[in-house]
Amino acid sequence: MKIYNTLTRRKEEFEPIHPGEVRMYVCGPTVYNHIHIGNARTFISFDVIRRHFINSGYKVTFVSNLTDVDDKIINRANEEGRTAAEVAEEYSNAFIDAMDAVGVMRPTVRPRATQEIDAMIETIQMLIDNGHAYESGGDVYFNVRSDNHYGVLSGRTVDEMISGTRFDVDPRKHDALDFALWKAAKPGEPYWDSPWGKGRPGWHIECSSMSAKYLGQPFDIHGGGLDLVFPHHENEIAQAECSRGTKFCNCWMHCGMLLVDSEKMSKSLGNFLLLKDVLQSVDARVLRILMLQTHYRSPLDYSKERLDEATSSFERISTTLRNVEWECSHAQVDASDGASDDASAKALLDKIEAVKKRYVEAMDDDFNTAAALGEVFSLVGDANAFISGGLDSQAKVDAAKAAGDAIFDLMGRFGIDMTDKPQEDEWPVELLGLASEMAGYSGDNTKEAAQALLDARAAARKSKDFATADKIRDCLTNLGFTVEDTAAGARLIF
Ligand SMILES: [Zn+2]
Repeated sequence: MKIYNTLTRRKEEFEPIHPGEVRMYVCGPTVYNHIHIGNARTFISFDVIRRHFINSGYKVTFVSNLTDVDDKIINRANEEGRTAAEVAEEYSNAFIDAMDAVGVMRPTVRPRATQEIDAMIETIQMLIDNGHAYESGGDVYFNVRSDNHYGVLSGRTVDEMISGTRFDVDPRKHDALDFALWKAAKPGEPYWDSPWGKGRPGWHIECSSMSAKYLGQPFDIHGGGLDLVFPHHENEIAQAECSRGTKFCNCWMHCGMLLVDSEKMSKSLGNFLLLKDVLQSVDARVLRILMLQTHYRSPLDYSKERLDEATSSFERISTTLRNVEWECSHAQVDASDGASDDASAKALLDKIEAVKKRYVEAMDDDFNTAAALGEVFSLVGDANAFISGGLDSQAKVDAAKAAGDAIFDLMGRFGIDMTDKPQEDEWPVELLGLASEMAGYSGDNTKEAAQALLDARAAARKSKDFATADKIRDCLTNLGFTVEDTAAGARLIF
């Protein structure tokens, strides 16, 4: 398996530290607001990556935090006259619900910063003891110039950082480059006791401490959005390596940005899309298909057109699966034909194996989801062509079933459950009245009522009473159904 490593700027063969295991950490959200779809892209991408490791036989330990104490949370709480803990609780729950809604597997461990303060104090103390950090006026700062490797991830030198960045000139800092590990509490802010007085941790120290605690150091993969490379991930490396004296992690993976209509999302442009709002009108599986069509490291352009394309892609797959199921369960098979060798069935089975193999090859090549999805679509095309030729032998039925199963399984590996809800659950109850009137049906089951109507229509057609047959069809159409006549009989599509 090859993975692009931001640290070395090239694709490398993945070699786990512990054979058969992957230990990975992905920076979670700061819970002061609902997440936008750019954040969602990062979490969905790493969910697909995690699933591929699992499907490849690895045991995966996946740690992803909640940053539940931060300036942004405190500011929001002050604006709304609430406590920071209340704000953090609300948006932590909202985040977890949103991740469940888009099918992101829950992390093995989801540490909350406010529950892990001891681990952070321990790391900060190690940094002070090692001469890489200093206390100043109740704050503790990391001394950037004490770290010869600083800049290793972002590829910037310390002097470039000074000229390219605006720093706040806090008089407590010895150097403008230094960053806070611990912040003394201001009046009214949440605080914890520490050797340096009452205060709270800086953002960067959280991830260094929680990853070391739950994964050990070094661990295999650290991930996040591309916007975290500098300064967050650079600072995580500095803290982790200067405190514990070992490499932090082997591989850094970063997910590209999400654009809306080719523009950067921003509140002023009015194109700032929250995940929860998008999910009001978009099936989470469609959103995932849209995201899979772009490589995780590339910028992803979200637009109405791309959403429409993803919707039709999803419908094409689900229609194919439904048709395969229908044709297999209604096939007219000559029983004496069971053992016959069927060349077209054999060809389809060979294609399924080839698709599965190429799917894995694509995913093994730095998680090329677009190519892997292309393989699934190629099999969808073959399955459609195959069933349209009719399933007149058991070998053909078995091959068609195998194709449907493979499509279902490969989509499932992406985290897309193609299970078709029983449509009858949503069928209108008006079917009962219609079936009572036109087909003499007296029960209360919509599926039976629909079948009674189809039977009545078939009987009318057989006796050349086309007026009645058409009337039944028109009534069904008015209820929102399409009547499809197939070789194996009529069926309703709602
Ligand atoms: Zn982080």
